[in-house]
Amino acid sequence: MRQLIAGNWKMNGLRAEATTLAQGVRAGAAGLRCDLLVCPPFTVIEAVARALDGSPVAVGGQDCHALHEGAHTGDVAAAMLRDAGATWVIVGHSERRQNHGETDELVREKVLAAAAAGLTPVVCVGETEDQRASGQETEVVGWQIAGSLPKPFAGVVAYEPVWAIGTGRTATDQDVATMHAFIREELVRQFGEAGQEIRILYGGSMRPANAASLLGVPHVGGGLIGGASLKAEDFLAIARAAREG
Ligand code: PEP
Repeated sequence: MRQLIAGNWKMNGLRAEATTLAQGVRAGAAGLRCDLLVCPPFTVIEAVARALDGSPVAVGGQDCHALHEGAHTGDVAAAMLRDAGATWVIVGHSERRQNHGETDELVREKVLAAAAAGLTPVVCVGETEDQRASGQETEVVGWQIAGSLPKPFAGVVAYEPVWAIGTGRTATDQDVATMHAFIREELVRQFGEAGQEIRILYGGSMRPANAASLLGVPHVGGGLIGGASLKAEDFLAIARAAREG
């Protein structure tokens, strides 16, 4: 299974910067051993999709609404992302769960909406610092997986310990190994053999210096990269650290 290196640009990038960043990623994307995805803000998806047209780099949104259309001021439907050129979407990022009160149930509805619109979802799960300190990390992630993934599920899971996002602190390789093995077990328990094929990304302060060891951990199917995805050279350095198979 090829690893997926996905960039979450969050709320960064006006049209000119985003286009330059996309062109930089495109310039180094040929011949890599991994799949590449960038998730810019809604407003520049179309520009980024145009800049990446015909390249191996896919484009995704960072969220979508659970419904197809209607009176939802400020929200964006999955079909709108598709229409703008996205083929993927991140759902259930911890910043959405925390800042917008998103529940597992809502995330699950968004996954269904994404699939109906032809988008591949990247579903984020991960424990807070307090939950890890009290030894609840696997229980929390187990509940998030059970609640957020519909059956069948055709997408990717991203394990992102909340305390490692944007903090410069990464989980140790051993913590990642333990959690990814647990997630794999849960996926197989819920989806049978199909659960073996679901890629499980690690996210949380991944950067060029730690990418090779994190991406080398068993059951790590790639990375979800925030800060380091805003520099094409760093994002590509992480992609070059991906392993095949
Ligand atoms: C993220 O927001 O998904 C993320 C992993 O951010 P960072 O790489 O900056 O920790």
